[in-house]
Amino acid sequence: MNKIAIITGSSKGIGAATAIRLASEGYDICVNYLSNDVAAKDVVETVKTYDVNAISVKADISSEKEVEMLFQAVDQKLGTPFALVNNAGILFKQSRVVEMTAERINRVLMTNVTGCFLCCKEAITRMSTKNGGHGGVIVNVSSAASRIGSSGEYVDYAASKGAVDTLTLGLASEVAEEGIRVNCVRPGFIYTDMHKSGGEPNRVDRLKEFLPIKRGGQPEEVAAAISWLVSSESSYTTGSFIEVSGGR
Ligand code: NAP
Repeated sequence: MNKIAIITGSSKGIGAATAIRLASEGYDICVNYLSNDVAAKDVVETVKTYDVNAISVKADISSEKEVEMLFQAVDQKLGTPFALVNNAGILFKQSRVVEMTAERINRVLMTNVTGCFLCCKEAITRMSTKNGGHGGVIVNVSSAASRIGSSGEYVDYAASKGAVDTLTLGLASEVAEEGIRVNCVRPGFIYTDMHKSGGEPNRVDRLKEFLPIKRGGQPEEVAAAISWLVSSESSYTTGSFIEVSGGR
């Protein structure tokens, strides 16, 4: 098996933890990111300590051209990917829907939804047994927000994750016969920088008491679920969702 994984948005947070986790399991890793060159290089250095190959590729997943370049870079420098983790995602300052501009909504959808579709498309082209590929796995990173709706915070973001859930269901059925499994994780309140983008860096600590488990989650706890979905341990699982959200 070609143990090669692309993790979008893996210069920090859940993506970085996933890159490191998959490297520890012997995967060569492509660290994709948007702007933070230093953080991406740091993740590559850590990943390489597991004696695997690793590259970082700066590419905006909301751009069709850049996604094509991302996958071409992997073809040339690592080989045909076996795993794609669609992790990159964004949100903006907490707002009510009536305050949201079309520009903001479209940016969220372009990254969180279109970006996910574009990466799936490139991955499937390479993985599909119908095209002579060896199959593979796709794991989408959605959010508990898709079930809850994030009212008063970022309904645009929650709705984008609803689309990721539906993509997971439809795509899993579409490509099952081509040797590709498609699954999804739905994290809850995880300690990462993302909450800063929403204007509330300490959001997890404010909300953790409302969870049955009474604490926020760590990126590594999400990475563990992703790792199971990538592994052959989940070989009969497709079109499925793992809630990594402390019981809510
Ligand atoms: P994060 O710490 O903010 O990291 C986001 C990552 O995505 C960074 O590596 C960033 O690159 C990259 N990125 C952003 N826009 C991109 C683009 N257009 N193209 C390529 N890369 C891009 O976020 P996180 O909290 O780890 O979140 C990861 C995923 O988990 C997201 O899909 C998020 O929606 C989901 N999630 C998170 C939580 C949570 O509580 N943290 C909960 C539920 C779901 P740069 O560093 O270069 O900007």
